[in-house]
Amino acid sequence: MSAKPEIVLQGTGVSSGTAFGQILKIDSRNRLIFKVEVEDTEAEARRFMEAIEISKRQVKDLKSRLEEKVGGDHGVILDMHFLILDDRVFQDEILDNIRRNRVNAEWALAQSRDHYVEAYKSLDDEYFRDRYSDIEHVTERILMNLSGEQPFSLSHLPDNVVLAARDFNPSGFAVMDLGKVRGIITESGGRTTHTAILSRGLRIPAVMGIKNLMSLVSAGDIVMLYGDTGQVILNPGRKRIENELKKPAENLPEAGPLRRARLRTSDGIPVSLCANIEFEYEFGAAKANGAEGVGLYRSELLYFRHPDGKPSMEDQLAAYRKLAEEMKPNPVSIRTLDAGAEKSLPSEKPDQCANPNMGLRGIRRSLRSPDTFQTQIEAILRAACFGRVEMLLPMVTTVEEVGEVRRLVAETGHRLASSGIKIPAVPLGVMLEVPAAVLMMESLAAEADFFCVGTNDLIQYLMAVDRGNDEVAYLYQPLHPCVLHCLSHIAKTAARVKKPARVCGEISANPFYAALLLGMGFTQLSMNSLSIPLIRRVIGSISLNDAQKIARKALTLKTAKDVYEYLTPAVARAVPIGIDIDSWAVEINPAG
Ligand code: PEP
Ligand code: MG
Repeated sequence: MSAKPEIVLQGTGVSSGTAFGQILKIDSRNRLIFKVEVEDTEAEARRFMEAIEISKRQVKDLKSRLEEKVGGDHGVILDMHFLILDDRVFQDEILDNIRRNRVNAEWALAQSRDHYVEAYKSLDDEYFRDRYSDIEHVTERILMNLSGEQPFSLSHLPDNVVLAARDFNPSGFAVMDLGKVRGIITESGGRTTHTAILSRGLRIPAVMGIKNLMSLVSAGDIVMLYGDTGQVILNPGRKRIENELKKPAENLPEAGPLRRARLRTSDGIPVSLCANIEFEYEFGAAKANGAEGVGLYRSELLYFRHPDGKPSMEDQLAAYRKLAEEMKPNPVSIRTLDAGAEKSLPSEKPDQCANPNMGLRGIRRSLRSPDTFQTQIEAILRAACFGRVEMLLPMVTTVEEVGEVRRLVAETGHRLASSGIKIPAVPLGVMLEVPAAVLMMESLAAEADFFCVGTNDLIQYLMAVDRGNDEVAYLYQPLHPCVLHCLSHIAKTAARVKKPARVCGEISANPFYAALLLGMGFTQLSMNSLSIPLIRRVIGSISLNDAQKIARKALTLKTAKDVYEYLTPAVARAVPIGIDIDSWAVEINPAG
């Protein structure tokens, strides 16, 4: 739990829903714009017009990406940006200022911006008043192009983020990973800004107009936001989070009885849904929403919070024990530290090697520091005395890695036994995230007790696509047939070697994908707690038979687009009317 005091902030709720996550601060550039006297005013005018042309091309590209990603209706939002860029009166005013007063383009542009923003802000009509934000977004883009800067990248976001910005440009939706964003909070803006309109269309809870927001929040702060009332709680207390996270389940009509009953498909096949957990306050929500255990506990946060990135055995044991006790009699899978690449520890310098995603991360890194690793192993083993604990290994590539972990676990177990601490058996699981591990499943099965499919990484490595690189982000396609064949292979191999396999990547929480996974043979899924009630209803209302037919057909298709076009209506038909899942299609749209 955060030691920082709880702070209640008030803004305008512009997109309903409650969200909870970690702040990612997008610092809009508080640029200092200087007035510079220019000699060659014609060259300066040309420089300005070139920046306008580049901006127009960028907006055109973003508009088509937005249309592909969230539907044609939403692309028109960027038409307003295009109209401003194309407005001759606006351009002439700035060109005139450059020529008459011999000033630089930045200064002339900023003067016009301030003039228009003031004028719009003074209007009575809310919709027209909010257009000031479009002018600010467009001028920011032109200023960026005048200086040759690259836009802030949003394509590689950590899980469960709440974006905090002074103002959020709606074009950001075209390039960001929508599956990761839980909410948006901004210092300026209101209900009729295009960012608000898009947030509502995408069902992302959002609060705008929060005074002094950027000076109050820090990256990594925990935040809870209420899109209906406009309230934002910084560093919320544990009780509040537990109470709030329970609500979505209670709001679903059938959630009460369903939550207590064993989940089965409409033709009676049992399916278990577990929770992915990072924060200790999520236990309450996981249980309230019917999680049958914790399928993935990301232990990174314990390390991230520690000043030197090395939490003691006692600190770790306290956290793991609490987890085991809270979820009892259900099992909890504690994943060993998965640091490296985009999850580098704050206490360390970011990985400077050319390809950190393929570098020293996950189990490779833990095995490189056996002392630190054994501290974690000991804490996990000791926690097993207080509940059903499993150990899960991230980024496994070879059989030897698992063998080496088994050796370290046995060594630690003997040491504890010789000091009189009797440890129950702790099942050892292997994350399937690297294609090599998928192809070696039969051999790994001799060392592992269960498998856990980490699709977030598996897709990245299968498609050889670094999601941090905007140039290739379009290739991150969860519905690509190669991903489907790989998952189907995992389900079949796991059944053959008689080892359980659950899927714990983001896609488990997508209703369309969950149905597809069921049809492939996965009957264990793990996801963020808030998604469990929806996926319960989807799985509870589809028959295994229908899901299998859908999966069989999807596996015959050749492109992600073909799969998307087949899958979304097929699943919508197979689950009864009354469950609105259409808006979830955006998340798996390969055009996104
Ligand atoms: C995954 O890669 O799918 C996964 C669950 O691990 P993480 O998201 O923590 O990398
Ligand atoms: Mg992973």
